Amino acid sequence: MSDLISLRRRFALAPLLAALSTALWASGCGGDNDKGPLPDATPVSTACLVSTDAGGVTVGSGVPGDPGLPEPSSGYRVGKQAVSGKTFMVSTANPRATQAGCEVLAAGGSAADAAVAVQMVLGLVEPQSSGLGGGTFVVYYDAASKTVQTYDGRETAPAGATENYLRWISDAQQTAPLPNARASGRSIGTPGTVRVLEMLHSDHGSRPWASLFDAGIALASNGFPISGRMADAIAGARSNLLRDPDAVAYFLKADGTSKLLGETIQNPDYAATLQAIASGGAAAFYSGAIAADIVAEINRTEAGADAPGALTPGATTLADLAGYQAVRRNPVCIDYRAHRVCGMGPPSSGGIAVAQTLGILENFGLNAFGPSALDIEGGKPSVMGVHLISEAQRLAYADRNKYVADTDFVPLPANGVSSMLDKAYLRDRANLISFSASMGVALPGVFPGAVALGSSDQEGKGTSHVSIVDAQGNAVSMTTTIESGMGAYRFVRGFLLNNELTDFSATPSDAAGPIANRVQPLKRPRSSMAPTVVLQRNADGSNGELLMATGSPGGATIIQFVTKTVVGVLDWGLDAQQATSLVNFGSSNSTTTGIGGEHPNIVAADNGNGDALVTGLRALGHVVSVSAQSSGVSTVLKVQVDGQPRLQGGADPRREGLVLGD
Ligand code: GLU
Repeated sequence: MSDLISLRRRFALAPLLAALSTALWASGCGGDNDKGPLPDATPVSTACLVSTDAGGVTVGSGVPGDPGLPEPSSGYRVGKQAVSGKTFMVSTANPRATQAGCEVLAAGGSAADAAVAVQMVLGLVEPQSSGLGGGTFVVYYDAASKTVQTYDGRETAPAGATENYLRWISDAQQTAPLPNARASGRSIGTPGTVRVLEMLHSDHGSRPWASLFDAGIALASNGFPISGRMADAIAGARSNLLRDPDAVAYFLKADGTSKLLGETIQNPDYAATLQAIASGGAAAFYSGAIAADIVAEINRTEAGADAPGALTPGATTLADLAGYQAVRRNPVCIDYRAHRVCGMGPPSSGGIAVAQTLGILENFGLNAFGPSALDIEGGKPSVMGVHLISEAQRLAYADRNKYVADTDFVPLPANGVSSMLDKAYLRDRANLISFSASMGVALPGVFPGAVALGSSDQEGKGTSHVSIVDAQGNAVSMTTTIESGMGAYRFVRGFLLNNELTDFSATPSDAAGPIANRVQPLKRPRSSMAPTVVLQRNADGSNGELLMATGSPGGATIIQFVTKTVVGVLDWGLDAQQATSLVNFGSSNSTTTGIGGEHPNIVAADNGNGDALVTGLRALGHVVSVSAQSSGVSTVLKVQVDGQPRLQGGADPRREGLVLGD
């Protein structure tokens, strides 16, 4: 209890403590082994157990309390509490992926090792969101040097792509790709996930590469019960999956209906693919038989017998796969009050947009506008808090939509990131915010010498976020995607191919000029993914210790999900779970401000007319939507408990996630 008392001081959340007191510690992994015998004989690291009132439960054991037991995906799981750990922790969107990462960490592996193991399981148990056929960004904090490095595994357009690749079959045939851009071969970018994980592992791995595939191979071979979100994804995509005989064979039953929640599914093709990459490295994926099958799938011209019709092929060749390179890039960092917030630079817009939002907000005393009625769900955001943050986001998205794309092709304005994050520039932007009325739609900032550009605001929703801290204090914040749920609906060698190229602007220009995010050969589509780490800042301005790793899926709204989580911790003193659970809100620079109506603290009925936050914002001129928002925030936070460093984790109650640590 003494830990809890000092936590109470740390967060000044006395009203919460009664509810938190049992589960805060009980839901973690460490220190729980005195609670009763293991109900399952499976030999696992005792560090990677979930504790319930009945004792420790192994993920995947099938006994009551097992978070790996399939349950229907619901909009919001009320009552999730922060998990505490001593030296290592992993938070992902799926219990089995979390377990795989935890086992690696418990055996002494590094955060980079765990990230590889997690991804190999996620691609199996949450195939609709990420996998071998997609792309990944990693923000890495190295504890020894206190430096941040980012890794770009974003998909690329094939060398043969033209600027009209997504909107026209050809310049001679100016009609849409068949059956549509997403389900045609045109949406499929050259995957980057395997290459970037190999790079991350070669820089920061400590366990043998091949050993990191064991959990994925075992689960794929032995089978696993389909989760609620996966079952929903299959049912929702069924008519599109019918075009691909391999997808039909895997996701549907013999009678053509969708495989269901709780049914056991095996994926021997995936096990074989993992085995090949485990023993042959990324080269086994980017060349040879697997690469040939990927290219053949992208270039397929006829759908299968279950849904016959023409498919417009992509232009991807074996040379595109063989030539794919992951890239080490500088992080995008901004000093925000006492901390330094670092994220992913271009081709993601996420890091710049989160940093600009924070840099604008620094001009306001946000801590005066925190949530009221604080509870374990994060309380009820205040009208002024949401107003200021969503106005700052309008300004940030205006710049993002106009200026940010793959900087290997289109430079940022002026001096680049430093100009866009200049504190004087952001103060000028902050001065555009009124306390009494929403600006509606913000205009982009003006930079000297910037070329005329059009704007685009693309992006879909099918992604996963992973936050990991290892026993050495290194952190991985990794957002990984196949773009939309089920990607391009193409299944090859046990995994789905992405539709990431739909993140490009299909239209190459508008009245204002060429669009920065237009398609160009070998270019990476602009992303919103915002894997983030927050550091302490030393008195001399140098990087200090890690404070936090976080991120989320959610297409363009990722920027909002990450901002509310960071502000929730830094300005409002929320714990890792409260900040993760906190009502989602924000604006992508339309007149609409979204308030996540799935949250138990929002009265979404009657279009929010009975909700004081919603009506308060409407009085300031916001057009408020209370549509449900499916974030998937995974957060690990470093805290001090009785002078001892501890880790604290949160997993988004809107998905199936789980936190485990020691
Ligand atoms: N493809 C999107 C991006 O890169 C992510 C989609 C999602 O989060 O669901 O920003």
